[in-house]
Amino acid sequence: MPGYLGNKSDSLVHHLAAMTSDCRIVEIKKSDKVYFVPDTIQQAITEKFTQCKNCIKN
Ligand SMILES: [Zn+2]
Repeated sequence: MPGYLGNKSDSLVHHLAAMTSDCRIVEIKKSDKVYFVPDTIQQAITEKFTQCKNCIKN
């Protein structure tokens, strides 16, 4: 299972193990889902995604 999921429509990245109902993961369209290689938050940031405030704490 991947650790992080990006949403192309709003450029947010979610931490799947910590996701909440506020993340609205189920509403992300299949075509908007992005997975990262390697599967790290650093890679997501490199690809210009913003960390979701609900599931990723700084
Ligand atoms: Zn989230």
